[in-house]
Amino acid sequence: MELIVARHREDLVKARGEGAVALVPTMGALHEGHRSLIRLARERADHVVVSVFVNPLQFGPNEDFSRYPRTFDADLEVCRAEGVDVVFAPSAEDMYRPDRQVSVNAGHMGTVVEGASRPGHFDGVLTVVLKLFNLVRPDVAVFGQKDAQQLALIRRMVADLDLPVEIVGAPTVREPDGLALSSRNRYLSGDERTVALALSRALRAGAAESVPSAILATARSVLDAAGDRLGLDYLVLVDPATFAQARETHAGPAVLAVAARVGTTRLIDNVVLTLTPA
Ligand code: AMP
Repeated sequence: MELIVARHREDLVKARGEGAVALVPTMGALHEGHRSLIRLARERADHVVVSVFVNPLQFGPNEDFSRYPRTFDADLEVCRAEGVDVVFAPSAEDMYRPDRQVSVNAGHMGTVVEGASRPGHFDGVLTVVLKLFNLVRPDVAVFGQKDAQQLALIRRMVADLDLPVEIVGAPTVREPDGLALSSRNRYLSGDERTVALALSRALRAGAAESVPSAILATARSVLDAAGDRLGLDYLVLVDPATFAQARETHAGPAVLAVAARVGTTRLIDNVVLTLTPA
């Protein structure tokens, strides 16, 4: 099957095939992490739609919207190689009407942890994801655990707004040395990449502990050892569904999440742990 590239919402309607549809929303600059999502989508549906859209709504005024990597031709090659049926790549003008008014509010969970550092970010994410759901009408949508709070909020939106789509979470794909794959890794110089390795190292060290205070202290000591080239934004241990901070007596799944700046690049990473009651 030839890959269909839908540039406008109307093209998308024409491209819709028979059978179950899986959607993989992305901002392009596709890497192995995205490929793993596409493969999961393939397993779950007859047709795979990948959206490639750098969503202006989810970037703050001082963030990297204008310099975000755009590698559309290479992205199409990745999609061809992975047997994707449709790439939906609208322009911002096509997605957002100039007189638009209504958007999704991510609620309290959108204002904590990553949302506290990036005001409005999750409103922008949920708004574009809801629009993509309405345009593509997928049966299944696949999102990475790499963006754990985004995944939790999308599950929340699907439940709270009764959206008829199944959400599949996909594990984080890493480089052999532990660095989580990210489109933003290409901003890193060689030295910065070495500093950035402290994130995954800290998460692994923290995950070897068993109570919240020790998990956080151990992870923190690894981050501190990276020196002042690593600008820590947050290190938290939270409930994976609510992103509320885990108490010392927390039992069950928890997410150890970190965000830090290395040079001008902001990186996030997380691991899921299961805490057993003492
Ligand atoms: P992005 O293009 O960065 O918006 O990401 C698109 C989707 O790919 C999101 O659901 C991300 O969580 C997911 N993703 C990004 N990096 C990874 C990774 N290293 N492993 C697995 N999924 C990822």
